[in-house]
Amino acid sequence: MSEVRVRIAPSPSGNLHIGTARTALFNYLFAKKNNGKFILRIEDTDAERTSQEYIDNIFDSLKALGLNWDEGPDVGGPYGPYTQSERFDIYPKYVQKLLDSGFAYECFCTPEELEQEKKEATEQKRAYVYSKKCENLTDEEKEKLRAEGRKPAIRFNVAKAQRAFHDSSVLEFDDLVKGKLHMDTDLIGDFVIQKSNGAPTYNFAVVIDDALMKISHVIRGEDHISNTYKQILIFEALGLEVPRFGHLGMILAPDRSKLSKRHGATAVSDFVKEGYLTEALINFVALLGWAPSDGVEIKPVDEIAQDFRIGEISSSNSIFEYDKLKWMNSHYIKMLPIDTLKEMLKPYLTKYPLNELSDEQYTKMVEITREPLTLLSDITDAVPYFFGKDVEIEQEAQEKTLDTETAQQVLVDFVSKAKDWDWSEENLHEKLAEFRAYWKESAGIKPKVTMWAVRAAITGRTCGADMVGILVILGKETSLYRAEKAIKTAV
Ligand code: GLU
Repeated sequence: MSEVRVRIAPSPSGNLHIGTARTALFNYLFAKKNNGKFILRIEDTDAERTSQEYIDNIFDSLKALGLNWDEGPDVGGPYGPYTQSERFDIYPKYVQKLLDSGFAYECFCTPEELEQEKKEATEQKRAYVYSKKCENLTDEEKEKLRAEGRKPAIRFNVAKAQRAFHDSSVLEFDDLVKGKLHMDTDLIGDFVIQKSNGAPTYNFAVVIDDALMKISHVIRGEDHISNTYKQILIFEALGLEVPRFGHLGMILAPDRSKLSKRHGATAVSDFVKEGYLTEALINFVALLGWAPSDGVEIKPVDEIAQDFRIGEISSSNSIFEYDKLKWMNSHYIKMLPIDTLKEMLKPYLTKYPLNELSDEQYTKMVEITREPLTLLSDITDAVPYFFGKDVEIEQEAQEKTLDTETAQQVLVDFVSKAKDWDWSEENLHEKLAEFRAYWKESAGIKPKVTMWAVRAAITGRTCGADMVGILVILGKETSLYRAEKAIKTAV
């Protein structure tokens, strides 16, 4: 078998979509599994919708996900350039070849004329295909139209190509994921391969690029199946080797509609901003249509690559379960080394004076608050009480705890006793245990009720991180200041 060469060919009309990331991953895995090459090609033929910002975002997102390409716009390779807009001088030669062999023809129809054709089709309740009005124009007729100032588009002659290479109007191909697929190509109109301004259309440029870049397998979303028939015919008409195709099911939102921004993040960079780890994202998208043979879902890309088989990809649509992604993300956060986590959390802590904490205090704070984090961004609301002298008391903590007589008595006792405590972690553990035991024995107060009072006064909340850790980080002065203040302000 010749070398496996696959590609991801995003159009930079937006930030890298999570669905494109999955397509990229499956191509990448297929390349790894088969010792092949993974290629990045930027399809920026639609100049109006393209921007450098989106191109940068595509590069950065793929890199962040670890989907490094062997050939591409930045790293080059033997079949470059890998950006379509830099390849415009390549395409006309192939258009000419099709014109010469009669598989393409010039079309002088104006947009108004085409609109009229479509309108008539709608009125007659039939599916629209181009009328082929320009298929057999004589040279004189063409000259006349040119003299009127009309510039022709070039159309591909579908029926002619189909009849030249197949017995009937039905075109069939064996999809790597979906098995045999077929279509009656008489339903495909003669489509434009080069616009009147000379620019190639997607379906044409993609074939030339895939052929020249020696792409062996085209793995992409099933929304491209209708394009595949057109592309196969162009490959054949040009005498180029047709690659194998594999079409992945769509990714749907939990409500079964198309995944869109109203469901949550859709761009990889937005997920990252929200506090998802790229390791979790890539692991999660691998499971959209594919399942590991051992049933172990959480595993790094390297291990997935060993296990990956394209024939095992489900041909149906997958549901993007944000909750499952969150669950995976929390798992990956738990596995992060503390120093990495400390760095990764910093962007979510910019509203706090982090410099008030020593490195030791910051480490401790992360250690005692990391457990419940689902997203890195959850840290923002988890830590306000570690900063400043005063603390904002939440309504629930005030009303259900601090306003009770028990809490007031506990706090008065806490302040008087804690004044004399040595504030080391070990000692605080011991002292707090004694303190809880005292209130249990002397007044029958449950240990957790005792601790609620202390916690509410010092953190302003009814639950949170390990209390001893909090006291250690805040220090004796701030802890006692807050406890005293809760006594004074209580009703
Ligand atoms: N530029 C196309 C897209 O972003 C790529 C299609 C293909 O893989 O052929 O949808």
